[in-house]
Amino acid sequence: MSDLALALIPGHGPRADRWDPGAVGVNGGISIEEAERVRVLAERVRLLAVERGLPCTIHGTAKQYRQRQAEAVAAHPGKRLVLAHLHLNAGLAGRGSDYGLVLHDPRSTAGADTARRLVDAIPAAMAAAGQPYLRSQRVVAAARPTWDRAANLLEPAWALPHGHAVLLEPAFLDHPAGVTAVVRSAVIDALARGIVAGVFGGSAA
Ligand SMILES: [Zn+2]
Repeated sequence: MSDLALALIPGHGPRADRWDPGAVGVNGGISIEEAERVRVLAERVRLLAVERGLPCTIHGTAKQYRQRQAEAVAAHPGKRLVLAHLHLNAGLAGRGSDYGLVLHDPRSTAGADTARRLVDAIPAAMAAAGQPYLRSQRVVAAARPTWDRAANLLEPAWALPHGHAVLLEPAFLDHPAGVTAVVRSAVIDALARGIVAGVFGGSAA
């Protein structure tokens, strides 16, 4: 069994008083919600990891992100933990583009290393699957104040003794290329393969 574990925190969803859909894009006249798509992606990642015998859990039901992180840590005692926040729009509001981002805490070298592996593995998996979407992914150190929203999610992991966090933003739902991509199950599958390969190593196939 791997000494490394992956805990996925899909963004948005349950809040104290409502369901938060996150960003909403439109594809063919149908609304596409970030909260729903990242949960589909998380489940695909988890299944692929479990098929390979790799520890992977999903924590998307608590109303507070800190509670989701606490549940993730509790799920993997004794492991080195990668906390992966999944979003499809936490970037600069209204300025989404046809690339994606992997963000890390600027203080975290482990986070930067994981982010670099993911920005290599995700486009490789997309290309291997013959999906001409989202080939370009960029590493971003989530410095305040530009990246306040990402920093709010990443910074709590700084205190973990054996873990670090990254925030994946593989597409932007407010960009046509992003919304066109993430409605496709083949794209979700390729993204998931890239995430498993980026975190655990090995091929994306
Ligand atoms: Zn989001």
